[in-house]
Amino acid sequence: MIYRGRFAPSPTGPLHAGSLLTALASYLDARANNGSWLLRIEDLDPPRTQPGAETSILKTLEAYGLEWDETVLRQSERLEIYREFCEQLLREKHAYHCQCSRSQLKARGAVKNYDGYCIQNPPNSGSPTAIRLRGGLSTPFDDRVQGVQQAEAVSDFTVFRRDGLFAYQLAVVVDDHLQNINQIVRGKDLLSETAKQGLLMQRLSFSQVTFYAHLPLILAEDGQKLSKQTLAQPVATTPDSIRTTLFKTLRLLGQEPPNHLIYNDLTDIHTWGIEHWNINKVPSDLSI
Ligand code: GLU
Repeated sequence: MIYRGRFAPSPTGPLHAGSLLTALASYLDARANNGSWLLRIEDLDPPRTQPGAETSILKTLEAYGLEWDETVLRQSERLEIYREFCEQLLREKHAYHCQCSRSQLKARGAVKNYDGYCIQNPPNSGSPTAIRLRGGLSTPFDDRVQGVQQAEAVSDFTVFRRDGLFAYQLAVVVDDHLQNINQIVRGKDLLSETAKQGLLMQRLSFSQVTFYAHLPLILAEDGQKLSKQTLAQPVATTPDSIRTTLFKTLRLLGQEPPNHLIYNDLTDIHTWGIEHWNINKVPSDLSI
């Protein structure tokens, strides 16, 4: 099997320590396995996309020497593809139109576990509807960092939103399939989404075996995940700070770079990282 991995940031802000950790780990894992490492910009949600964030992410990756293969894919340019897969799901009765608003779902206590209302009462055509996938039992998998994840009951969930946006779940599964991605290395915040994504893969008859590694999250002082909301600082890009940040990130990833490496140049740090990469040393959590 030829390793194909990817880094798939949402351009909601510049790269911070947490997203850099994900980028570095997925890059090293791909390179250590003689694999390809692709870059996909997940800009599906215009209100969350920050102007300039994509350019800043690309420049930072370049400054850190994290060179990707192939052309960068942008989800905002692929809406037609997602539409076709949504139609396939509807045609094959794996999905249905749903008109329930959030407040209706709340009132019925059906936010987490959809109650099938729109299956019994199909919405009138003409008004905007979401498209909801029929739930079911997910496939268990052995996460390379977090260990065995049992099968779980997944409730019906939306693959297309009533406001006209495709859901992250659909786009990610379709893109990983079309890009022949077989290794997904990403943050642990998405571990709980993997069951839905596996179910969606089943429903779309995507038979490619995918391996997962969910990385520990760097938490802000209050225990929240680092993000734009928690005002995470962008990673620094002066030559000295790049070396220091890479060195520290290797340590956070449980790798044990020798102290002198911090004084070496970028290429040496990368070479060391690739040669010594051991995913079994990556901790499942980081203590704050
Ligand atoms: N775009 C997602 C994020 O930035 C990552 C998606 C993925 O790696 O599956 O959180």
